[in-house]
Amino acid sequence: MREKIRILILEDNAADAELVQRELEKAGLSFVASIVAAKWEFLQQLDVFDPDIILSDYKLPGFDGISAMRVAVARKPEIPFIFVTGEMGEERAIDTLKEGATDYVLKQRLARLGPAVERALAEVEEKSQRRRAEENYRTVFETTGTAMCVLGEDSVVLSANRGFERLLGYAVGESEPEVRFKQVVSRDGSEVEDFYRYHREVLSGGGTDPVFFEVRVVHRDGRTLDVLASMGRLPGTRNSVLSLIDVTREKKFEGELKERAERLRDFLTVASHEIRHPITVIKGYTEMLEDVDIEIPEDMVADIYASMDDAADRLIRIVTELMDMSLIENDGIELDMTSCEMKELVLEAATDKRGWRADRHVEVEVLSDPGLATVDRVRFMYVLDELLDNADKYSPEGSPVSVTLEARAGIALVSVLDRGPGIPESDRERVFERFYQVEDALNHSQPGMGLGLYIVKQLLDAQGGKIWYEPRDGGGSAFRFSIPK
Ligand code: ADP
Repeated sequence: MREKIRILILEDNAADAELVQRELEKAGLSFVASIVAAKWEFLQQLDVFDPDIILSDYKLPGFDGISAMRVAVARKPEIPFIFVTGEMGEERAIDTLKEGATDYVLKQRLARLGPAVERALAEVEEKSQRRRAEENYRTVFETTGTAMCVLGEDSVVLSANRGFERLLGYAVGESEPEVRFKQVVSRDGSEVEDFYRYHREVLSGGGTDPVFFEVRVVHRDGRTLDVLASMGRLPGTRNSVLSLIDVTREKKFEGELKERAERLRDFLTVASHEIRHPITVIKGYTEMLEDVDIEIPEDMVADIYASMDDAADRLIRIVTELMDMSLIENDGIELDMTSCEMKELVLEAATDKRGWRADRHVEVEVLSDPGLATVDRVRFMYVLDELLDNADKYSPEGSPVSVTLEARAGIALVSVLDRGPGIPESDRERVFERFYQVEDALNHSQPGMGLGLYIVKQLLDAQGGKIWYEPRDGGGSAFRFSIPK
């Protein structure tokens, strides 16, 4: 508020204008006044003098108080307008108030003027404070990082901030179709009932303490989002204030962490089983060989040593896989890249059939010779061995396994093909993940810890290669990998 109140007085009688000012001084008001009588003067001073309040006579020659009030209300609605008049019937007075006048004071009871002016100015101040407070709330409402809205009857969104629009794709405004939150909230959300219960409570006048719950909502474009919601009653109303924080990413992450923990648990079970088996074999045979009371037939001794050797190989393989995994996860793989003849490596891998089923037939087909490629020889052979071992391990006795080699633009393409059970579509990407085993493998019909293909993929990635799975026409698996030339 300014230091001195600026009062525009519309009065054609100088003595009355004088009286009015004296009355205001008596009331202790500090003011400057501008006294006008003609219409043009009034209109001019409305802008130039920029009054805080207008006091107007009712009857003026050539310009009446009602017209002045209408102009003032239309042009400066925030300025209080008080009639100071000698005569004005009760009904007329009420009509002027309805039209926008702030108050009226009769000239014969001028003592009321001071308090009337003070009251009118106090109301203006209060209104502007309220407007500022509303503006502040609106700013907070809009700039808070969360999506917020106010819900009324039948979960109609009465107002919403831009965060709400960003989160759910719905704008709320006069030109927008009505949005009902119950159409946005997804029924499969875990705590959706909490939302409905609280909303009903608020509508029936309850729900004073805010509540927090998680719900699933559907964005206008069809995406499902997980949100953390807090809901409270808007004071003095039966509407609810709802704020929503998008936790879709966190939820997904939480799910992944849980799954990882489960997989790690499964892995420990599988790994201990895997290690135990060959140890039991070796221990059983050594005890048997040491026992002087047991006579072992001559022709069995070679078989026993072969079984012990297989078990030791199995253990070496397990330890190698674990060490490789640890290397990949911790320090990264160090490669020793040299230029190698692809055909030679593939032929060598297919010839080394140690530990394979006796009746397995492996065929190598060079569809087009890629010549040389730069690879880590040992790691490359590991990849081939692993894929060939899997082909042997997972396909039935007697069925053929083949390896093809071809030259493609800038790459050598190697495929390991079998006629085994193939891999279900839902598992085809996942078999390259750490510890992942297809359901049947989990039941442990075959040895393995779900690490082989993971290590293979990491080794190929490190050498600039790629691996993928394709089902084969007529059944079986095709594991294909590329290596840059
Ligand atoms: P594991 O050492 O347990 O065999 P891998 O990472 O080598 O683990 O393989 C992951 C899963 O992929 C296996 O559990 C198996 O079910 C499946 N799999 C791998 N190779 C083949 C294949 N040639 N045919 C069918 N299934 C396969």
